[in-house]
Amino acid sequence: MVLQDVMHLVDKGKMLPLMEEFYTIQGEGFHKGTAAYFVRIGGCDVGCHWCDVKESWNAETHPPTEIEQIVVNATKSSDTIVITGGEPLTWDMGPLTKALKNQDLNIHIETSGAYPLTGIWDWICLSPKKNKLPVGDIYDKAHELKVIVYNKHDLIFAEEQASKINDSCILYLQPEWSVREKVTPLIVDYVMQHPKWKVSLQTHKYLNIP
Ligand code: SF4
Repeated sequence: MVLQDVMHLVDKGKMLPLMEEFYTIQGEGFHKGTAAYFVRIGGCDVGCHWCDVKESWNAETHPPTEIEQIVVNATKSSDTIVITGGEPLTWDMGPLTKALKNQDLNIHIETSGAYPLTGIWDWICLSPKKNKLPVGDIYDKAHELKVIVYNKHDLIFAEEQASKINDSCILYLQPEWSVREKVTPLIVDYVMQHPKWKVSLQTHKYLNIP
């Protein structure tokens, strides 16, 4: 296929820059402890300085992959598929999620919300970032709000974001891994004082799994 045709299919969400896919345990948030097949889509321009998947940022380093192939792989291991990145909403998620839904799979997304929401989702984890705030109506549709806490100022950001979210959304504060020893006590105190929040930990990292 010539490059122009590939780019056309990527623009339409029929091919996606696939970074990696793996079967593991969801470590974070509401579904922690649940087996799930992760599909990591390349491409992100949000630029979090503490990002632990910076190799995902440049979409051009990840091969454009036909969504049919992603679906074939995803159906082999789990009923639950987590689409993550990178920032998956950089791309049109409509075709991939429709194809996964045709296989009766539960589809979750982990997103910063920096681009308009596309696709059909059973679970939306919105993890907003200060660099590039969520757009559109994702605050109305998110099932969980997960704010990463790198320092105490992020608790103010968390409250700003919570003020915009729908009433049934579950609220999580999660320590950024590299500073977890410093910020976890802050989060614990904060959640006890503001019990509408819950603590989320990256339990997969404690378990030493992907
Ligand atoms: S939005 Fe996610 S992938 Fe993008 S820079 Fe931030 S943490 Fe990394």
